[in-house]
Amino acid sequence: MEDKVLIINTGGTIGMIGNPLRPAYNWKEITAEYPVLEQFPTDYYQFETLIDSSDANPEFWLYLAEVIEKNYNNYIGFVILHGTDTMAYTGSMLSFILKNLSKPVILTGAQSPLVYPRSDGLQNLINSIYIAGHKLFNLPLIPEVCICFRDTLLRANRSKKTDSNNYYGFSSPNYFPLAELGSEIKIIKEKILPPSKEKFYVDKSLNSNIIMLELFPGMKPKYLNEFFKVDSEIKALILKTYGSGNTPTNDDFINTLKSISEKGIPILDVTQCVSGSVKMPLYESTDTLSKIGVISGNDITSEAAITKMMYLLGKKLSLLEIKEAFKSSICGEQSV
Ligand code: ASP
Repeated sequence: MEDKVLIINTGGTIGMIGNPLRPAYNWKEITAEYPVLEQFPTDYYQFETLIDSSDANPEFWLYLAEVIEKNYNNYIGFVILHGTDTMAYTGSMLSFILKNLSKPVILTGAQSPLVYPRSDGLQNLINSIYIAGHKLFNLPLIPEVCICFRDTLLRANRSKKTDSNNYYGFSSPNYFPLAELGSEIKIIKEKILPPSKEKFYVDKSLNSNIIMLELFPGMKPKYLNEFFKVDSEIKALILKTYGSGNTPTNDDFINTLKSISEKGIPILDVTQCVSGSVKMPLYESTDTLSKIGVISGNDITSEAAITKMMYLLGKKLSLLEIKEAFKSSICGEQSV
């Protein structure tokens, strides 16, 4: 069956049909509305409960990864139908836990349900089938977890949902698209990771005992302190900071971070900006942060930061090992 693509439907707007709108019951129903889809070499797997992606969580990610694992040897590539809201998180997480990937895993969705005549869903789905099926359509292999949306193919762990209505819903501001999907499909080969020659498996240990906090002027450090009281189960703090990684410089705030850091809890600094990176130390603020052990997230997206941290915590790494891991890239998620 390595000449077929497996479509895995997890839910979201793309699989919605009918009037009033509801999730399609199965592939037959989807193709009844869009017979063109029958001409592609695909099989279809549907989650028993289709979710709005705002309900995605580590259990959902592991289940999805297991579906891929069980079917890995039987298909040339995989297309995942997924809601757009948390697609960048799911894609980032899959990039960390699908180990030794040598096949395309392409997430796609839609801003508008398939049933609507102007829906973006059909184009997104067909483009994804092409990328996942690569050699069946005379295209090069992209052995990565990607997001296929509108006219670009993006590395998932570099992507963000940057527009809630526009059909150009996703971008990867710190990394070039892996392909341009116009009347021709142009694959930017130099940007693609090589396929692994090792045996594929799913790395299943995750720990989501993390909080992520977006700074804002006027934030009270004592609220941050509340999270880390003696019996706190939180194992990591991700701060979404200003500009190139800056935080308030007042003693109250810095001492709060210092006391969290002294408990051996990793504090990761990622920028609130959509593009660009944390530069540590550039200003006095980031100099102080690096002195108290705050880790630079460099140009990682917050979606990749949180999923990478869950993945690293799941491996029960030491603080030092976690710091080292954020200086390097596991699967192209950050510049080094
Ligand atoms: N709320 C929906 C979801 O993320 C939106 C979409 O499907 O795009 O599941």
